[in-house]
Amino acid sequence: MDDLTRDIRTLKGVGDTRAKALEKLGLRTVGDLLGYFPRAYEDRRQFYAIADAPLDRPVCVKAMVSDYPKAVRARRGMELLKLKAVDDTGELDITYFNQNYLKDQFRPGDEYIFYGRADSFGRYRTMASPAFERADRQGVVTGRILPIYRLKTGVTQKFLMGLISQVLAQYGDRAPDVLPPSLTERLHLARAPYAYANIHFPRDDQALDQARRRLVFEELFVLAAALGIMRRERTVEPGRKLRIYPMDPFWAALPFAPTGAQRRAVDEALSDMASGVPMSRLLQGDVGSGKTLVAAALIWQAAQNGLQSAFMAPTEILAAQHYKTLTELLEPLGVHVARLTGSMKASEKRNVNELLQTGLAHVAVGTHALISAGVAFRDLGLVITDEQHRFGVEQRSALAGKGTRPHVLVMSATPIPRTLALIIYGDLDISVLDELPPGRQKVDTFAVGEDMRARIWRFVRRLVGEGRQVFLVCPMVEENEELPPNVKSAESWAKTLQREIFPDLRVACVHGKMKGRDKDAVMAAFAAGEYDILVSTTVIEVGVDVPNAALMIVENADRFGLSQLHQLRGRVGRGSHKSYCVLFSDADNPEAKARLKIMTKTNDGFKISEEDLRLRGPGDFFGSRQHGLPEMHVADLSADMRVLKDAQNEANAILAADPELALPQHRPLRERIDKLFELHGDTFN
Ligand code: ADP
Ligand code: MG
Repeated sequence: MDDLTRDIRTLKGVGDTRAKALEKLGLRTVGDLLGYFPRAYEDRRQFYAIADAPLDRPVCVKAMVSDYPKAVRARRGMELLKLKAVDDTGELDITYFNQNYLKDQFRPGDEYIFYGRADSFGRYRTMASPAFERADRQGVVTGRILPIYRLKTGVTQKFLMGLISQVLAQYGDRAPDVLPPSLTERLHLARAPYAYANIHFPRDDQALDQARRRLVFEELFVLAAALGIMRRERTVEPGRKLRIYPMDPFWAALPFAPTGAQRRAVDEALSDMASGVPMSRLLQGDVGSGKTLVAAALIWQAAQNGLQSAFMAPTEILAAQHYKTLTELLEPLGVHVARLTGSMKASEKRNVNELLQTGLAHVAVGTHALISAGVAFRDLGLVITDEQHRFGVEQRSALAGKGTRPHVLVMSATPIPRTLALIIYGDLDISVLDELPPGRQKVDTFAVGEDMRARIWRFVRRLVGEGRQVFLVCPMVEENEELPPNVKSAESWAKTLQREIFPDLRVACVHGKMKGRDKDAVMAAFAAGEYDILVSTTVIEVGVDVPNAALMIVENADRFGLSQLHQLRGRVGRGSHKSYCVLFSDADNPEAKARLKIMTKTNDGFKISEEDLRLRGPGDFFGSRQHGLPEMHVADLSADMRVLKDAQNEANAILAADPELALPQHRPLRERIDKLFELHGDTFN
């Protein structure tokens, strides 16, 4: 078992150079290799006769080499190795480039399997650089289902396959079995060694199915157990028990009535805070659904109980915005709001810290500066983080550590289909703001091609003429040779727009590679109306409020996820002005078109994320990892939903009987979970 933690360099053929290349794939130990599952498979079991070989894909052709290979010198020093193979149906001319060392591997009269893409010239068939083995020794690169691994420079398929076979041979039967044997038997799941062997090198289709079924179950089971343990760990010790004061004075002081959803979310959180167990709740709500108000209500309630709150935002500009909102809402009610951000002078910070230590300030709003060592509270009882996926668990717990088991609320605008949220945030309670404040205007959205460019530019001019401002988002920061030339980059597109298209307008540019301070300065200037057009990357995705912005233009919109487009669109329509979103795309594949069309049909973030999930599949949906879920290796969260339920039930049953997973048969499971926490501590919620 311990053997699996052995360094990858203990394997034959792995020195420092290769180890470095492997490390780029996250492979450090023997166990990492065992768990590095193929991303796809290639079925090379079927052999074709020369004349029958399909031309549209690589296939195996079985044929006899009919003559000695000939080395030919071609132009520019290129060496060609020419080879002729025959069978009853025809002749195959094979060429290898700069691989003359293969010459001695072919013996006329012997039969070989060639794997490659065949081409046809009249009656001839040709093949360039096929993989091959002698027919009587086939079974390594032909005649089987071959795994296809994700690669990086310095690591080839062949090399990885060799390494993994080596690991399977030496360690395969020592693969840790995290599923208790009784469970494996009852559910008719394959044993771990069999599953590992066949997920890498499937003997046949059934074996692959069995292996996959077992590993999917295992993956979801471990996840469910891990979430179960987290949930338990945060509820075993008592938390601050609040006495709940009626919320009427707070509601009455608002310039508007709270939505039903806001009231419900506040009630749910308050009942947590009164329960004696520390709250750990996720507040999910689409952009503009009014999450800040819920936070303010809870801060007010905490203050009535003599408890302080901390409210952490991911950027200075957001912190400033929250500070303004909370000050306006809370100061008239006698709740004092302080601000703490990294850019403040040391003396200012000292002052704020004093207010927090003495308890004169009831709430601190700020960036991660709130976590820094010098900051202390008199009695911190409530911790709120906005846009939670931007903070790691350590940062959140560092903040929570400034109080005594405070209540925790994390707020997220990333809409996730309800079914998935229950699983992903399995250790948190969830409140959803599924209702927008009344009077919200829908943002009219258009998916357009280049033919509309001139009209859109005229539209920009018209809006700016009316005093409005415009966001324009590009998929890239700077030009990138690896991408097609039509992909716009913020830096050069901003220059072009300023020089050639809108010389009379004020164009600014902001992107993720700028220093935080410079970025904030440009954003603040835009918010203050000093620019007409802000060209950016998705850095503006996080909630900056510029009520005067009435148009969002997205370039190469097909390169963005729908949920991301929805977030971007949420940057406009925040004021009283009629607002628009224009999605430029010249992609002509029907799937990309269908996706963009969804954006023009609805403004509902949850609907959009459901559609996104349906169209792209969960691989991509979770690919960005912004949902705080560890990367799934085999499981497909929407397709494997039923397995997930089973896995959850089984995990809960085991935890109910053995909450600490202390029994010997649960040791491997406990170890796997500990490892998961180590690896994903920063992304788990
Ligand atoms: P988000 O959930 O995106 O963080 P905010 O909290 O920033 O949303 O709220 C968006 C806007 O809606 C703010 O201008 C806020 O004042 C306003 N708002 C919030 N709740 C209500 C309500 N119940 N009625 C009217 N406007 C509201
Ligand atoms: Mg917000």
